[in-house]
Amino acid sequence: MRNFSETLYDAYAQEFRVDELLHEVKTDHQHLVIFKNVIFGRVMALDGIVQTTEKDEFIYHEMMSHVPILAHGNVESVLIVGGGDGGMLREVCRHDTVRRVTQVEIDQAVIDMCRRYLPGHSAGAYDDPRAEIVIDDGIHFVRETQQRFDVIISDSTDPIGPGEALFTESFYAACRKCLNPGGILVTQNGVAFHQMDEIRQTGEHLESLFGDWHFYTAAVPSYVGGAMYFAWATDEPRHRRTDIATLRERYRKSGITTRYYNPEIHFSAFALPQYVLEAVGKS
Ligand code: SAM
Repeated sequence: MRNFSETLYDAYAQEFRVDELLHEVKTDHQHLVIFKNVIFGRVMALDGIVQTTEKDEFIYHEMMSHVPILAHGNVESVLIVGGGDGGMLREVCRHDTVRRVTQVEIDQAVIDMCRRYLPGHSAGAYDDPRAEIVIDDGIHFVRETQQRFDVIISDSTDPIGPGEALFTESFYAACRKCLNPGGILVTQNGVAFHQMDEIRQTGEHLESLFGDWHFYTAAVPSYVGGAMYFAWATDEPRHRRTDIATLRERYRKSGITTRYYNPEIHFSAFALPQYVLEAVGKS
């Protein structure tokens, strides 16, 4: 393979030069490729779609973990759905208040190959005694489990293939049932400019289920087309409005250091452009 051309959109694609092909396998669920590119470092793709890269993964993982955890202020239990590269588990485990992290990943091969070829993503988090790894379909797990969580993070693939179920109203309803009172659900929701239908539909589902829902953003270079959007859903509206002084104090007390996240970015990430507000009926 000389170049990797992403297959997410029909009429437009980003292409990487493959400087070294490290691994390629058809797992029980998806086609997995890990290659090296001189700009992005090691890149992992599933079914032709870039999932994570060494160089920019910190933006995505920090924003999906620290925003809900620090907005909540007292998180002891976290559920990660998907996240097989381990980056989300790494960031969640950096919080000393967290006593229990469950990760439900459908594909054991993604975990195994990322531990081998992208070791900096999990950075030892799979050996953290607070972590429990479950190999299962995320929708099946949230429907069946009796466990409750303060934060649920859906770190899924796009709504194609095994990830499709993780964008349904039924999945969000089951997540709501798994949240402790005041708990927060965040989900990766794609790039608004290209995937507005996905964002619009998620908004409609969340509207029927949660007392407070919104989206927040970060620009992740390997997810092309502008800002990446994360859905936010909770029955506790005060979490989204946590002021900067409180966030600064919680961030300081947490003792974590970050490369993208800071309390100002956290606060401003909820400010959305007009075309997105209009699409989700919040203008
Ligand atoms: N950061 C990426 C993005 O924004 O597209 C996604 C990260 S990738 C680690 C997503 C993970 O979700 C993959 O490991 C995949 O195997 C897993 N996954 C997909 N569908 C799933 C399902 N139904 N249940 C649990 N995990 C799932």
